[in-house]
Amino acid sequence: MGYVSRVPEGDTVYRTARQQHDALAGRVLTASDFRVPAFATVDLTGETVREVVSRGKHLLHRIGELTVHSHLKMEGAWRLFHRGERWTRPTHQVRAVLTAGDTQSVGFELGVLEVLPTAEEERVVGHLGPDLLGEDWDAAEAARRLEADPSVPVFAALLDQRNLAGVGNVYANELCFVRGMLPTRPVGDVDDVPALVGLARRMLMANRGRWTRTTTGDLRAGRRSWVYGRSGQPCLRCGTTLEGGELGRVEGQERVVSWCPNCQR
Ligand SMILES: [Zn+2]
Repeated sequence: MGYVSRVPEGDTVYRTARQQHDALAGRVLTASDFRVPAFATVDLTGETVREVVSRGKHLLHRIGELTVHSHLKMEGAWRLFHRGERWTRPTHQVRAVLTAGDTQSVGFELGVLEVLPTAEEERVVGHLGPDLLGEDWDAAEAARRLEADPSVPVFAALLDQRNLAGVGNVYANELCFVRGMLPTRPVGDVDDVPALVGLARRMLMANRGRWTRTTTGDLRAGRRSWVYGRSGQPCLRCGTTLEGGELGRVEGQERVVSWCPNCQR
């Protein structure tokens, strides 16, 4: 498969989990290799991959009684290769290799990689709010959590995975535009939080089955987002020059915002 450059958000992680599951579920590992010091001695050879699932932006490879928990952050990816095939990213980026016969799954530049008993998964994903792409999605609970602190800027509240899981910088920016809100507007001043939550769900659902993400419905380059990555360019709706800036950092990642000063208030 080709390499697609795209900031990993909930939809990317969901799709990655599906792809990993389809390739590995039910298969016995013939080798494993964890290239992070804390787990370098873990050997899953002989264990069966039970399933691979996503929880928000977290990936869970459930293998035997253990779970390989990973997070892609900005640059991470899991890719599949035939054994012996040349890997598409440099060896120094490799964090994990799971081999099942002639199939190899390689985790590159994973922001988080750890192995823990499956029974203890709650320790690493239990804090997450309702998963926008989960079968147990709970819109009312997500809205309740978003509204819990009315003073928080809506952009930051959307990114907080404890409120709802799966939104990253791209969707947070796009949601603010489509709902006509400045990213800095306090959650307490958002007119209709359930509508915002419903829109978030629809945006991620629409993109979970494709690698090329669009929030505008337009798949052409330069027209796939309303405001994300477009500061300094004209608003696709009104032509006003989009503004851009930063709203601090979350988990070491810049929160890059862009907005239309005419369409968003
Ligand atoms: Zn505009």
